[in-house]
Amino acid sequence: MNYPQLVELDERDPLASKRQEFSLPHDTIYLDGNSLGALPYAVAARVQGVLNQQWGKDLIKSWNKHQWIDLPSQIGEQIAGLIGAAPGQVICCDSTSINLFKVLSSALSMQSHRKIVLSQNSNFPTDLYMVEGLVTFLGEQHVELQLVDEQQIEQALNEDIAVLMLTQVNFRSGKLLDMQKITRLAHAKGILVVWDLAHSAGALPIELDACEVDFAVGCGYKYLNGGPGAPAFLYVAQRHHAEVQQPLTGWMGHSNPFKFEAGYQPAKGVAQYLTGTPAILSMCALDAALAVFADVDMHQVRTKSIALSELFIELLERQPGLSELTLISPRDASCRGSQLAFTHPHAHAICQALIDRGVIADFRAPNVLRFGFTPLYLRYVDIGRTIEILDELVGGEIYRQAQYKLKQKVT
Ligand SMILES: *Cc1c(COP(=O)(O)O)cnc(C)c1O
Repeated sequence: MNYPQLVELDERDPLASKRQEFSLPHDTIYLDGNSLGALPYAVAARVQGVLNQQWGKDLIKSWNKHQWIDLPSQIGEQIAGLIGAAPGQVICCDSTSINLFKVLSSALSMQSHRKIVLSQNSNFPTDLYMVEGLVTFLGEQHVELQLVDEQQIEQALNEDIAVLMLTQVNFRSGKLLDMQKITRLAHAKGILVVWDLAHSAGALPIELDACEVDFAVGCGYKYLNGGPGAPAFLYVAQRHHAEVQQPLTGWMGHSNPFKFEAGYQPAKGVAQYLTGTPAILSMCALDAALAVFADVDMHQVRTKSIALSELFIELLERQPGLSELTLISPRDASCRGSQLAFTHPHAHAICQALIDRGVIADFRAPNVLRFGFTPLYLRYVDIGRTIEILDELVGGEIYRQAQYKLKQKVT
């Protein structure tokens, strides 16, 4: 590896100083920020403060004194700034799966004469499972799930389809869909569009308003670094606010929860998508994590993400011993999210061996080795070192050792 050249790239990197805002073990190269973002120091300090002072001393007064009650909308507004949404359309709550249930229900009830939810067959399973759940819950006469290959989405749009539900960046391949074009084509057929931003929010610039997206959901613990099981978010376009309703009508989505009235009255706008009491500790963690993005230009993040992944491919292709790793991500960086995926018959063992050497990648069944690039805390030298280690492990077939065969519960 030509280290001086990589060191120079790091020295010229406008995002280089961001790495100091994260707590990262010195002996680890972390290429899995697309699954669980790293811990920002500010999160640790914030959560400690919330425990000691807010919960510990101010107790229940904190709902007002420390504005706990406003966290879902206040965090929603911070996320809105990262995904091209004007104020008042994003709220932070629940998990991505539950938020999908809410927005899918809203979208379906706006399409009274249509019942098909169209999605990509390679979508993240929970997205499809949630539609299956809706089919069971509402009945086959009201909802039907239809799946197509990612390449066939545009041709499959027709006037029988109620909702197009797509994940912008494919969790396995990293393929990035054209949000603007697909949304426009769907609208031309009267279809409402739900985008899942789990692998794109915080990784690349997104323009929900400009693309005229109807609904979106996304994840707080991946590129947004909110911590394990961080609350998710959802977006509902302003133009739908007067019309939408959602079925999980808990008291926090009521127009006046502390009146304790008989009968549900939805809050105005996106606030009606709240259900129960927000998980304050997790909300505070995500709030502090988002502060890391306050001075970050998402175009710079994208530029570095592409540079890191292109460097990865370039260095990998120079190693004859790595030719058995087959790139399944688009070779054109403009069609990729912030990850690279390779297939290999021994992908799982290679991943275990990498982790053993301090390079944390991940494995996705059946045979995919996935590397996530998080420009806020990854360096160019990390890419060089990763390829070196990968070459040792694969070229030397070290991954064949017995200890790398064990499969754990979470991969
Ligand atoms: C990570 C991910 C999720 C996660 O859903 P949770 O309910 O938050 O566990 C959902 N959809 C996609 C596309 C994902 O990548």
